[in-house]
Order: sequence, then C-alpha cells, then structure tokens
Amino acid sequence: MRTFAIAAFALVACAAPETQGAPQAPGAVAEAPAAVTPTIPPPPILEPTVAPPLARENTSTIPVRARGALSPGPVPAIATPLPLECAGAFAQGGTAICRTVPGASIVLDGQDRGKADANGWFVVGFDRDSPASSRIEVIASEGVNAARDFTVLPREFSIQRVDGLPPQTVTPTDPAVVARLARDRDTKNRGFASRAPAEGWLDGFIWPVEGRISGSWGNQRVLNGEPRSPHYGVDIAMPEGTPILAPAGGVIALAEPDLYLEGGLVLIDHGQGLISMYLHMSRLDVREGERVTQGQVIGAVGKAGRATGAHLCWRMKWRDRNLDPSLAILGLAQARVQLAGATP
Ligand SMILES: [Zn+2]
Repeated sequence: MRTFAIAAFALVACAAPETQGAPQAPGAVAEAPAAVTPTIPPPPILEPTVAPPLARENTSTIPVRARGALSPGPVPAIATPLPLECAGAFAQGGTAICRTVPGASIVLDGQDRGKADANGWFVVGFDRDSPASSRIEVIASEGVNAARDFTVLPREFSIQRVDGLPPQTVTPTDPAVVARLARDRDTKNRGFASRAPAEGWLDGFIWPVEGRISGSWGNQRVLNGEPRSPHYGVDIAMPEGTPILAPAGGVIALAEPDLYLEGGLVLIDHGQGLISMYLHMSRLDVREGERVTQGQVIGAVGKAGRATGAHLCWRMKWRDRNLDPSLAILGLAQARVQLAGATP
C-alpha cells in the first residue's frame, strides 16, 4: 500500500514519453525552464530504502566483506543447492546484482529473466509498483537450483499536477507528429532490445552530471486533470554544454541526435539488460556500437526535444522495468560492500 504525498509543483517534468513497455498515447508536455522553477520537489530520501536483502531460505546471512571493487573472480562451481548471493537496493525502482554459476537460468517472480553471464553475475531490478516481496530463483539443470525471497521496500511518490497545458502538447493529433512519434518509438525499441556482453555495473555507477535535482523519479503526473504515466527520470538541471559522463562502462545501444520528444538521446547498454538513457542532449560524442568506459564523455546537456530548460533527464531500464538511476548508484555501492570478493 503506497501513500502519495500530494503536492502541486510548477511543471518540471520531462517532456519525453515514458519509455517502452506497453505502447502509450504519444503524450508530451512542454517543460518549464529549470531556472524559473518556483518549487523544487525534494530528492527522494534514499538511504532508508537501501537495505541488505533479507534472506528467508536456502542460505545464510551474507557477511559484509571489506569494501572493494567487484571483479569477475573465480568462476563458481556447480553444487546443490546452487550458490546464490545478492546485494543492492531492494526497494521500488532499485537495482541489485546477484552471483550464481555461469549460464544459470534466472527466474524472477515466476518470470524467465535470461541467464547469468559467463562469470555467474546477473542483474535484477524492481519497478515503481513492485510488491513488497520478490523471489529470485536460479536453475542450472533439473534438480539443481536455489531460490531466495527478498523484501522490497516501498517508497512514497509525489503527485505532480500540471494544469493549463495546450492540449496539443498533451495529446498530439497532427498526423505528421503522430507518425514521427511512432517512428521514434520503433527507433527507441531497437535500442532497448540491445543485450550487449558487458559487466559495466561491476564498477558501480557515478553521476553522469552533478547538479540540482529539478525533477524526481516516480512522480505521478496529472496533466490537465488527467492521470498520466509516472516520471521515470531523474532531472538534473545544468547549463547547456555541460559534459555528460558515462556512469559505468557499456556499449552504446542508441545514439540519436534528434528525436521529437527526447531531442538528442543516447542509450548505454551496461549488460544483463541494464540500459541507461540520456535525454535532451545538445551534442552526442558517441556512436552506436561503440564501447565506453566509466567517466567517458558521451555528449553534452541540452534542451533539445520538447524541453524548454537545459537539464539532463537520466533514466534507466532493466529489461521491461523502469528503474531509478539514483538508486542504482546506491544499490551498486551496497553490492560492492557486500559482494566484493564474493566466491559463492
Ligand atoms: Zn525527466
């Protein structure tokens, strides 16, 4: 059960439609300039939402090891039950990583979610409306498996009411715009389908730019009185031209300079279905297929697309789930504490 704290802000939400998943009406809203935003929603209180997983079966408590970097390390051996260690942000919108044997099949809440990589690592993510409990199962072969249940902490999200928008910016009807939005959606879906062999999350994540948070992740938006998709980005207000850094290594899954709503858009595939997104960019310094490293400049902050204020809208997906990038930073830092040197 979630409690929404209702607050009326000026419009600071991102222009772009919420990404992928079920097709949506090509709604869009103009964005207020960050500099004149009279009320700024506070950043989410993240610390209490980052908790070690609560193991309920099949395993003992994971000891906290010395702080350090995660590395592929020795490949775990197959045993019964399978080794399975997880750590990260077990919270709505959170990211966690787990380790088991290479190639084990992953089942999350009864759904097939790919396979562990060649070093036994895999990523899991919890969406905004995740229930309070989640089951992670790994299967190496019939009869050789492991399962653990985790508590997923609930969060509170604000309601963001925006009234008086021009109807065309909320529900476009111009056939040319509608057609372009459909093409853009296909383009983005091509990027989201990327599954690069990468382990960028082993390094943890850094902020792509540092600045004032002008729009929080997960806010429920009500546009002209109509409930719309939540805002699945963290908006960071910074001047146009500010360099954007890759928060972790990966492969550029999409580099589009001019989408209708997103403007310049870059997608980085960090591996295991974890893809981060950068919207409204004024300049792109990377090309599709290029491998990037943590801290590498991928382009610059802008207000391209349907935005009227310069800022970075930073988003993240794990497969079909929208994640909070700021929780990925905390979750992976947590994992680095708990899983460093892990040899399940
Ligand atoms: Zn945004």
